[in-house]
Amino acid sequence: MPELPEVETVCRALRPVLEGRSLAKVQCNRPDLRYPLPTDMEGELKGHIITGIRRRAKYILIDFNHGLTLIGHLGMSGRVLIEPPSLFYMKPGPHDHVIFMTSHQYKITLRDPRRFGFLLLKPTHHLENLHPFCSLGFEPLGDHSLVASRFQAVLKTRAVSIKSALLNQAIIAGLGNIYACEALWQAKISPLRLTNTLTLEETKVLLKEIDDVLTRAIDAGGSTLRDHVQPNGNTGYFQHSLKAYNRANQPCVRCKVTLLTKIIQSSRATYYCRECQQ
Ligand SMILES: [Zn+2]
Repeated sequence: MPELPEVETVCRALRPVLEGRSLAKVQCNRPDLRYPLPTDMEGELKGHIITGIRRRAKYILIDFNHGLTLIGHLGMSGRVLIEPPSLFYMKPGPHDHVIFMTSHQYKITLRDPRRFGFLLLKPTHHLENLHPFCSLGFEPLGDHSLVASRFQAVLKTRAVSIKSALLNQAIIAGLGNIYACEALWQAKISPLRLTNTLTLEETKVLLKEIDDVLTRAIDAGGSTLRDHVQPNGNTGYFQHSLKAYNRANQPCVRCKVTLLTKIIQSSRATYYCRECQQ
């Protein structure tokens, strides 16, 4: 499943291709993905300038200058393929459901074999009031020096395990299980700690490590970026550098003595070191 770093990577790849440009053609090869595709997408979008590409949680937001935003989600298996101008574009495959052609002849394909992804078209000014955007928590990527105290205040209102809180979209948006495990390990905070026991200092460290783990995943995703720019290849994304996730009964790479423990929290696997994470 595309995780937040991969979605961020897609946004970064789309930005130089789409910003300041418009769409010349939108081809829908089926009526729906997880939801019906927007009605007359080509009529709604053709010729209007794209003013920005944003990411919120795992949603890709493409803003147009006439006040509409195309919301994209990659679901379980969605990928975005970007092809530069060519006389020989890739032949559409059976899972290439939506194809955009830009005004400068870039071809952008949404490929989604399992079709859990979706596209929605909504007024830009209305997004913050729409589900799920109205209820999403803090953005996990970025400079958190200013939000640490607000984040801690949110954590203080609850008494759930910090690991479960990190997977709660209303608290922090789009982090995902692997990165929650890794960030807690890096921050030396036990996944079992109750949220209302975290100090401001620990909250700052946690936010910094969340940002670090996501940033390193994005950096490691250079190969994935290529996969998205060129339509071939596979994503083995960041898996090789995981320190905690999926390492049950293997020695902790920090303290070198304790074997990592696997537990289940909120129906999700958690991996941690009982020695260094307190
Ligand atoms: Zn350890």
